[in-house]
Amino acid sequence: MHFFTIASGSSGNSICIGNEKTTLLVDAGISGKRIEEGLNTYDFTTSDMAGILITHEHADHIGGLGVISRKHGIPIYATRGTINAIRRSSSVGNINDGLFYEIEPDKDFSLGDLVVRPIRISHDAADPVAYRVSDKRNSVAVLTDLGIFDNYIVENMQHLDAMVIESNHDVKMLEVGSYPYPLKQRILSDVGHLSNELSGQLLGRLLHDDMKHIFLGHLSRENNYPELAEQTVKLEVSMGDNPYCGTDFPIEVAPRDTASRLVEL
Ligand SMILES: [Zn+2]
Ligand SMILES: [Zn+2]
Repeated sequence: MHFFTIASGSSGNSICIGNEKTTLLVDAGISGKRIEEGLNTYDFTTSDMAGILITHEHADHIGGLGVISRKHGIPIYATRGTINAIRRSSSVGNINDGLFYEIEPDKDFSLGDLVVRPIRISHDAADPVAYRVSDKRNSVAVLTDLGIFDNYIVENMQHLDAMVIESNHDVKMLEVGSYPYPLKQRILSDVGHLSNELSGQLLGRLLHDDMKHIFLGHLSRENNYPELAEQTVKLEVSMGDNPYCGTDFPIEVAPRDTASRLVEL
């Protein structure tokens, strides 16, 4: 399988996952033009995409969806709550009803040569999910936009080959930063975003000898630094109840506005 991020951060998210036969996008939270440029980095093009998996309806995940779906007619996969919220969203514009495919958490579905599992996440959106995408050999997951994790998340994210895991903020930077108090409370809540510390603690429970690549994603521009996220996550892994050191695996921050390296599994 192949896997790279096109954009990752609070200002826009889109990720490309596929194998020799099928390639898809997870989220389309930047402009159609930037998605096309990101895909072109590795000789893909938007019209190659077999589908777009949407995690939830926040603007940083669907900002480019209207333009892309109207221009290329790519099927959109999302939960019922997310589809309804997208339809109500004024910024996306009109999308042909026939492009929406309703999916349910915990129910695997096939998309070309790939199998997709939607996994419930705790986030302040209508019906948000993370995705695990597999073929016969490998599994890759996109796990961002969650305030907390539990055993359900840990169990569904075992034996991955690669993943994007949220490392949104440094709690101290957020607390002393300029955000209004209600927004700080929202981000820190159970339906907000994973801090660097929690991200490292969760990752410590997902690592195994065959994990090949980890991108830290969805970093806050105001309340985090890439170096701080990486160091904190690696430290939490090293201190955690697992056999590994943070330096045992390729752990790197996904670039905010440009395509990441191409991970080939
Ligand atoms: Zn969100
Ligand atoms: Zn988001």
